[in-house]
Amino acid sequence: ELQAGTGATVYDTAALKQLDTAHHLHPFTDHALLRQRGGARVMVRGDGIYLWDSDGRKIIDGMSGLWCVNVGYGRTGIADAVYAQMQALPFYNSFFNTTNVPAVLLAEQLAQLAPPKFGHVFFTSSGSEANDTVVRMVRRYWDLMEQPQRQVIISRRNAYHGSTMAAASLGGMAGMHAQGGLPIPGIVHIGQPSYAEAGQGMSEAEFGIKAAGWLEEQILELGAGQVAAFIGEPVQGAGGVIIPPPTYWPEIQRICDKYGILLVSDEVICGFGRLGRWFGCELMGFQPDLIAFAKGVTSGYVPLGGVLVSARVAEVLVERGGDFNHGFTYSGHPVACAAALENIRILREEKLVEKVAAETGPHLKAAFAGLALHPLVGQAETCALVAALDLVRVKRGSVHANERFAAKDAVGMICRGHMFDNGVIMRAVGDRMIVAPPLVITRQQIDEMAERIWACLDLTLNDLKARGLV
Ligand code: PMP
Repeated sequence: ELQAGTGATVYDTAALKQLDTAHHLHPFTDHALLRQRGGARVMVRGDGIYLWDSDGRKIIDGMSGLWCVNVGYGRTGIADAVYAQMQALPFYNSFFNTTNVPAVLLAEQLAQLAPPKFGHVFFTSSGSEANDTVVRMVRRYWDLMEQPQRQVIISRRNAYHGSTMAAASLGGMAGMHAQGGLPIPGIVHIGQPSYAEAGQGMSEAEFGIKAAGWLEEQILELGAGQVAAFIGEPVQGAGGVIIPPPTYWPEIQRICDKYGILLVSDEVICGFGRLGRWFGCELMGFQPDLIAFAKGVTSGYVPLGGVLVSARVAEVLVERGGDFNHGFTYSGHPVACAAALENIRILREEKLVEKVAAETGPHLKAAFAGLALHPLVGQAETCALVAALDLVRVKRGSVHANERFAAKDAVGMICRGHMFDNGVIMRAVGDRMIVAPPLVITRQQIDEMAERIWACLDLTLNDLKARGLV
């Protein structure tokens, strides 16, 4: 008898895997390959930065679930808040001139935490829905401003903004656009601010200005009067932790201001402390008009997302917008909002955002500088509590001189396998290995994680030698 048990239960892993393979379609998964590899790992329990699978193996979760479990696993306070709210009022909608207590309190909290001038929030259940909301809100704004020809939203190649039709169109993932006729009309992409990819022969500062300049070129090509907004992640997450040079975002801001274009920060990953500020735009030095958020707002305990709306947009939508014909059954879901309130209380009480900035972010940087000495690692980059390592075939001391592996050899995936089998979860984006650990990680746990990563890099190197790839 299989049950959704607690961590104490003994699991029949083989049976669970078999049923999963038989009935469960996973996101972003090649199911034939998954079956061939014996099915999915079954996760059963978490505590702090650690996970346990159904075979009882303890694993460091270097990815915070999917960049979201900011306060770590096992927070009974969030479970209690959710339970209490479920008993009081599990659901009511926010459509017909009604609201609920957690939604009100959370909206007020978010207005307090957000950068100045952000006084309103629209709730969704995910980051994808938040970005779909952004598209509709931005276009509605320009309609109301009597500039309906301002339709085009500019995004970036290799950006990730979600998987719904509009969010996947905003995203710049070629593999996603190739399936299902994307992007939808009115969305264009410029290059990403990847110094490794396109900064050869320049300083990082020069490259930041140049990469931001691609926005101005695109605006001029389209005609400024056609452009509604620019959207970007402060640090691109799913694209491979692309950390822009410090000159990039201020220059993007200057260009958006110059042409009156709305600036949207997708903070689904960077928000709620990941970059050592409540919102990543604060670290990167820009003031967006809209902020999309999800993930860290509840630490993933219950799905919740939304769009924070600054005065510039809110004054138009709220004061003279009439009906905004948009919304979700679960907009302002009381249980999700209750989880968020408790999550934010924990982030504040334990000063986790400050801890990332002052303590664990710098410690992760030092630990990754150590990992950069490994023969397989071309370079290491960190920004507060996100970090990445490039696996290279020949290391030559500069990002532009290192020799990469062939894509077909899927070296990142080989490395990820060794990590997972040896108790640490890293994500592979091509041959770039990524971590974004829970914000509760301690300095000692960062050292523990780095030691395991080093050992797994050794295993990977031996494996690659055996395969004749190095
Ligand atoms: N934006 C960014 C920056 C993301 O990283 C993600 C998810 N990884 C999304 C949007 C989409 O969020 P969701 O999966 O909750 O729809």
